[in-house]
Amino acid sequence: MTEDALEDAMTVAEAPAVRKPVVAAAEETPIEQRTIKMRMEGVNVYYGERLAVRDISFPVAANAVTALIGPSGSGKSTILRCFDRMNDLVPSARVEGSVTLDGEDIYGTGVQAVEVRRRVGLVFQRPNPFPMSIYDNVAYGPRRHGEKNKQTLDELVVSCLQRAALWDEVKDDYRKKSGLALSGGQQQRLCIARTLATDPRVILMDEPASALDPIATLKIEDLMAELRDNYTIIIVTHNMQQAARISDQTAFFNMGDDRAGYLVEMGNTSDIFTRPQKQLTEDYVSGRFG
Ligand code: ADP
Repeated sequence: MTEDALEDAMTVAEAPAVRKPVVAAAEETPIEQRTIKMRMEGVNVYYGERLAVRDISFPVAANAVTALIGPSGSGKSTILRCFDRMNDLVPSARVEGSVTLDGEDIYGTGVQAVEVRRRVGLVFQRPNPFPMSIYDNVAYGPRRHGEKNKQTLDELVVSCLQRAALWDEVKDDYRKKSGLALSGGQQQRLCIARTLATDPRVILMDEPASALDPIATLKIEDLMAELRDNYTIIIVTHNMQQAARISDQTAFFNMGDDRAGYLVEMGNTSDIFTRPQKQLTEDYVSGRFG
């Protein structure tokens, strides 16, 4: 992709106002010179006998958005699920290798998966609010973790709805209105608010805007740009323009001849999209396959 094409990809026709450039100069710093929040090292994932992803190693910079891109079946969701041990819930899945959070192996002995998932939150592809009020959706996690103080919960719910850019739209009826009565885009921001309420360090998003219309998608993208000041975000997206617009780092995956996914190349998003090291990456980001 040329510089011009990248610029086009970063501009969206439906953008209601001037959008700040999401990829700032600071993100040009090579990844290894940044603070590393999570790191995958030599990860293989099997479903039963079948190797789904092979020998995956890459760092995830703190306070940045890392995009996982690649053709369908190349293992992006499988890899994302390794970061919060969600693959533990798939009976046939087996994970080898290490994944660290702040230097500690989240698969280490004595590390509880539920603890990992408190620190690493996941937002699904389709918004999945619980059938309860907006307030109760956001308060759900903290209550499960034992928070009973009403004032603490009240403040937390408001602050999470604000941080998820939903507060202005729901402040009049968030205690009564069901989360299911919101629009799709609002439901996804509610799910992000619910994730924020458990005070995660890292937020994983699996194609969080793929079920949304363009305006709702932009709101989620703007929200990600704001959240990365305080959180580390890893997002799977099949939308290359979205990866170019919102991410600081991009990891590109492909499927090998044996259909196992592997990492082709990872780097700063501007490098991956304008001067990739591998021809395969160039072919993929310019739309020649996938
Ligand atoms: P992507 O997100 O890039 O589309 P996935 O991680 O969903 O890729 O899938 C990678 C490979 O692992 C695919 O061949 C898929 O069929 C397989 N796979 C994913 N989830 C499961 C599962 N729960 N059980 C068995 N195979 C799975």
